[in-house]
Amino acid sequence: MKKILCGVDIGGTKLSTSLIRLDGGVIDKCIDCDHVDKPEKQLVEQITANINRLLRNNEYQESDLQGIGIGCAGHIRFRDGVIITTSNLKGYKDYPLRDAVQENFSIPVILDNDANAQAFGEFKFGAGKGFDSMVFLTISTGIGAGIIINNRLYRGSTGTAGEFGHTIVNPDSDLTCTCGNRGCLMSCACGMALPYLFEQKIRAGKTTLLDLPEGFDYSSIDGHMLKKGLDMNDPVSKEIILDSGYYVGIGIYNIFQALNPPLIVLGGGLLSWGDFYLAQIKRTFHELARDMIFDPFEIAVSRIGPDVGVIGAASLALELC
Ligand SMILES: [Zn+2]
Repeated sequence: MKKILCGVDIGGTKLSTSLIRLDGGVIDKCIDCDHVDKPEKQLVEQITANINRLLRNNEYQESDLQGIGIGCAGHIRFRDGVIITTSNLKGYKDYPLRDAVQENFSIPVILDNDANAQAFGEFKFGAGKGFDSMVFLTISTGIGAGIIINNRLYRGSTGTAGEFGHTIVNPDSDLTCTCGNRGCLMSCACGMALPYLFEQKIRAGKTTLLDLPEGFDYSSIDGHMLKKGLDMNDPVSKEIILDSGYYVGIGIYNIFQALNPPLIVLGGGLLSWGDFYLAQIKRTFHELARDMIFDPFEIAVSRIGPDVGVIGAASLALELC
């Protein structure tokens, strides 16, 4: 029986590496902020050095690890362990990161999309404990998701399954998504939509209670500002939060009809909007699903905190068992 797991989360600002117990607890971690501009080989060296240092500092051997899981945003060709494209690392294209790290270790290395990693972490150690299937949706600047069916991640044929952020919830929308389509869930509901939505409401003559300086740059509107607005009962902030919740509710309804999971777990920064937001999501879902819920079905909030990235990455190694 192997004792511990290792997770590596390659984020847009932070490279986090952590040793994790089999119950999901963090033993130790290190965070670097200088990885984004590094060429591929140097990143592999950095990841390798971090893992070896953590093992040494905590008096573990490589053989104590069950595996190393790496989570990275972007398109990952799972079966080949290749980063197809990622916005988190400059210039990476079709890079076989899994095999490059694997060359330095004798235990298995697994690479997957960060949303899949977070979904599996939540499934193993968080709100998904006790279920055999679930869908995870993370709502932050963008929207990511992961699908677990019968205890396994469902990845689709190339590994990009679960891109619910690009399902279309409002084809008449004038919001264009990063993918080029109009009315994707991601373009209507998440952080990247907030500046546009806010400006639109102000231009339509609505008044905000937020104290915005003369010539305010609306592109700086984010989830934190709207949370502040919500706390001070600002009508503009509340309207945008309700709009986002409405579209997420439609998105969840679509997932529910497609996959009939017993559980959908919501995570990500915009969940800091709390019950006001969650209630609108649930209200919209139930208005659409009406009497079509034939089995127990739950919409829950993520239980893993800010370490979900590395804990999720580490949990990928459990898929190898
Ligand atoms: Zn899209």
